[in-house]
Amino acid sequence: MKFIVTKELGRLLKWLRILGYDAEYFKQDNLSSLLIAALKDERIILTRNHRLPKATAIKILFIHSQKIKDQVVEVLKALDIRPKPQEMFTRCILCNKPLESVAKAKIKDKVPEYVFKTQEDFIGCPQCRRIYWQGTHWGNVAKTLEEIT
Ligand SMILES: [Zn+2]
Repeated sequence: MKFIVTKELGRLLKWLRILGYDAEYFKQDNLSSLLIAALKDERIILTRNHRLPKATAIKILFIHSQKIKDQVVEVLKALDIRPKPQEMFTRCILCNKPLESVAKAKIKDKVPEYVFKTQEDFIGCPQCRRIYWQGTHWGNVAKTLEEIT
């Protein structure tokens, strides 16, 4: 299941990526190009924008909740989906690209020293080169996920 998220829902976008969903960010105001982008990639539009024209070929989900946790729950419930644990933390939060494992030796200068000493497994984004690891980085996220799912 793939999403395209309009600009006012930036935090929801981030969370969908954390959960492992392919979610593109649509930052423009041009609503017809949003519809085209959704149609082309078969993405579900997540938006708060009620000016969107009704197009039967495209699934549009209006998000009503204000709080980010409620928004995530709203999406999961409306579409009757459950995030799969093995797919969580597999996508770059910034680029939406699938992350790849990175050899520890290669990232020595790219992460804080204590992280390098205490962590063994690192994954990186092939596009922005950001490095991710378990533990502090995602500790709070995992806690929030427990509350959501
Ligand atoms: Zn990235």
